[in-house]
Amino acid sequence: MEPRAALLARVSAAHGTEVSDPATGEVIGYVRFGTPGDITKAVDRAAAARQAWAALPDADRIGHLMRCADAVEAHAEELAYAVSRESGKPLAGIGARYEIEACAHWFRATADVSLPFEVLVDDGKDYAEMHYRPVGIVGVISPWNWPLLIASWQIAPALRMGNTVVHKPSEHATLASLALIDVLSDVLPSDVLVTVPGAGDAGDALVRDSRVGKIMFTGSVATGKKVVEASAGNLSRLTLELGGNDAGIVLPDADPEAIAEGLFWGAFINNGQTCAALKRLYVPHAIYGQVVESLAAFAAKIPMGSGLNEGNLLGPLQNETQWKKVSGLVEDARARDARLVTGGDPDPRQAGYFYPATLVADIGNDAPLVQEEQFGPALPIIRYTDLEQAIEWANGVDLGLGASVWSADRAAAAAVAARLQAGTVWINRHGGIHPMIPFGGVKHSGYGLEFGVDGLKSVAVPQVISG
Ligand code: NAD
Repeated sequence: MEPRAALLARVSAAHGTEVSDPATGEVIGYVRFGTPGDITKAVDRAAAARQAWAALPDADRIGHLMRCADAVEAHAEELAYAVSRESGKPLAGIGARYEIEACAHWFRATADVSLPFEVLVDDGKDYAEMHYRPVGIVGVISPWNWPLLIASWQIAPALRMGNTVVHKPSEHATLASLALIDVLSDVLPSDVLVTVPGAGDAGDALVRDSRVGKIMFTGSVATGKKVVEASAGNLSRLTLELGGNDAGIVLPDADPEAIAEGLFWGAFINNGQTCAALKRLYVPHAIYGQVVESLAAFAAKIPMGSGLNEGNLLGPLQNETQWKKVSGLVEDARARDARLVTGGDPDPRQAGYFYPATLVADIGNDAPLVQEEQFGPALPIIRYTDLEQAIEWANGVDLGLGASVWSADRAAAAAVAARLQAGTVWINRHGGIHPMIPFGGVKHSGYGLEFGVDGLKSVAVPQVISG
């Protein structure tokens, strides 16, 4: 067996549900999904480990997080291989290796942040301090698109703040998630991090367990709403990182060639299967043709194929449902006489869920490809003549995760950014994240913040000591 495949083989069950490589359809392992009963047992274990973990000095937990980062780095190539095989994400570029490096980076950065108590009032008459205590048990429910990175965003701060964690990975990313947990478990005390592979029923059981004080949920809006309902009985604290339909607005002074690369990767990072990817692009009439042309020229240079081939920068889509969603939206756009500048015609002889990078021009703002989250490699480019109209269109959906403005004039871009309804607005780029910069959505993209000091607060309960 290839050495990189050893970790994948170790976490694969002997029997159970088949896991296939989305590039080839080849079976790469088996998983056994947990039941709601398995969730109860996992919470039992996390509950038993909780007090000892919370009682550790902060410096000890920092040490554990640092060891987690080291362990991820020591197994980086095996973990990247597992991610690439299960998700189709290329090893190269902004792909599987990038995801693993970012996991290690996040563990280390989360170890480095601190959240000391704050003195709120000290005026000689009154005195009050704000402290942040562990919630107890944090439930982490993850999606499949960046399965290890997003889980790490939540596991690292939850552990750092003295919580134990029960983690339910996506049913589409079980093997890679188990590989990560296997590596982390080697350097963590038993049961501070327990993973239960499973589908929606396991996630639901985790939300409904009254011993879980906080749910960190990342996934679709529809499931997020179910999580809100299911958590009502427990009044659980929630952080909801839900869908996005991020708009980008190009201003007339932008240089089409200079922005093409940033626009392309803003939209096509992980084949568009990224929450805060650029999903709708608004371009002024005066430079519309040049922007479309520059983007098409850049797209033509990006190789797509098996993620294991070092030359490829885009792979297949992760699953069949996603493939059908993207192709359905593109076919609808075609039927509306939108112009397919590039892509849109997957090769029927090719195995796997490959879908070419697709640019759709001259499309109306009301098309489903614009109004719905496509979560795939098909970017609609909408022409505008009036900036006010473009801002109204950008704000005209229920989602509000990210957005971007592209211009040679930063002040002009910032003025437009201030009017966009999104948790983050980037200027002249789209989708950059940083462990010290808070990230979260508005509107139906969810609530709560992750990363940095705000991320630590989100997995803690505040306590005022007064007097
Ligand atoms: P999904 O909602 O289908 O699944 C997410 C997780 O929820 C999975 O682990 C799933 O098993 C679990 N789940 C399903 N039903 C459940 C229930 N009733 N109760 C509890 N858990 C349940 O989402 P997905 O397809 O895995 O991910 C894609 C979506 O996630 C996209 O909309 C994307 O934009 C969004 N996303 C958002 C962010 C962000 O940070 N805002 C990041 C990544 C992905």
